[in-house]
Amino acid sequence: MSDQVKVLVTGAGGFIGHHLVNFLKHEGYWVRGVDLKEPEFHATRADEFELLDLRRWDNCLEATRGVDEVYALAADMGGMGFISSHHAQILHNNALINLHTLEAARVQGVKRYLYTSSACIYPEYKQLVTEVTPLKEEDAYPAQPQDAYGWEKLVTERLCTHYREDYGMETRIVRFHNIFGPLGTWQGGREKAPAALCRKIALAKLAGSPEIEIWGDGEQTRSFCYIDDCAAGLYKLMRSDYCKPLNLGQDRMVSINQLADIIADIANVPIVKKHVHGPQGVRGRNSDNTRLNEVLGWAPEISLEEGLQRTYAWIEARVIRNYGKPPQRLLETEVAALLGHAV
Ligand code: NAD
Repeated sequence: MSDQVKVLVTGAGGFIGHHLVNFLKHEGYWVRGVDLKEPEFHATRADEFELLDLRRWDNCLEATRGVDEVYALAADMGGMGFISSHHAQILHNNALINLHTLEAARVQGVKRYLYTSSACIYPEYKQLVTEVTPLKEEDAYPAQPQDAYGWEKLVTERLCTHYREDYGMETRIVRFHNIFGPLGTWQGGREKAPAALCRKIALAKLAGSPEIEIWGDGEQTRSFCYIDDCAAGLYKLMRSDYCKPLNLGQDRMVSINQLADIIADIANVPIVKKHVHGPQGVRGRNSDNTRLNEVLGWAPEISLEEGLQRTYAWIEARVIRNYGKPPQRLLETEVAALLGHAV
């Protein structure tokens, strides 16, 4: 067992981190998970799990001790509602997390370091229409991310590049495009569009009331990638020798209205969309997967419908468990909690 590769996953209490720990355990790694919180829905399979605030340098040194590789996922983040209204907090917290985790990894002699960036780094001026041209990695510059979240990701991408050039650390950089799946945040304000829509449609079904709220006109477009493909892609990138930023997402673009229709079909329930004012992010975004295919000889394989089927089933079960009483007995505050976070 002593020659087992030791890996740290930061953000292991979160959505992608928890799934990645499972994936790495399945691959035979020794895994330490670190987060501010334990996974919310299932116990972790990590060999060690430490509750540490990675904004602090001493905690980063502790987290990175004795590991060969780091998957850096910890971030203060959420869906559009959160990202568009917490700029200072996000930039401050994530900058501290990433500056300290990367430097601690260097001090501790970590050999490989994978940083999870985001499609949010791409410039707003390339994403002004719904029928947008898919984004290639080189489209990142001249830089003009929409939110502080994207600016911080861009700076940490550069930091990883300089650590490789100046210190010889093998850094990898992935840009996720909307990852979704079971065991993710589905209510409370940090949830993303797929989870929010699954929750609203499950509630509409439970309450027998077809109306669901959608932020904006719902014509804004995105691509959505299922979590199992995300974990597989992360692992392939870490094992590859590719050190520049790489998109990881699906390249099938749908509007938020279409996403809602697909979920309603899966739920087998009629819906009426009520378009309300709310943050929508950029108008259109899609991933150009040319380089992903070239570098990894692979691209995400799980269809949107299949991924949504699994995600909807999981969220519907949670809605029923949490709110599964006759609709007239739902408290007003419960309905507000469920309906109040549109996409
Ligand atoms: P998540 O919010 O579920 O997980 C992030 C985890 O980081 C959380 O569990 C949180 O508690 C932890 N964290 C926050 N502050 C911390 C701190 N100070 N110390 C230690 N841990 C801290 O998010 P996720 O969807 O699993 O995202 C994982 C990574 O992927 C993040 O870096 C995110 O920015 C990036 N990303 C995700 C998506 C997506 O669609 N989910 C898209 C683009 C980029």
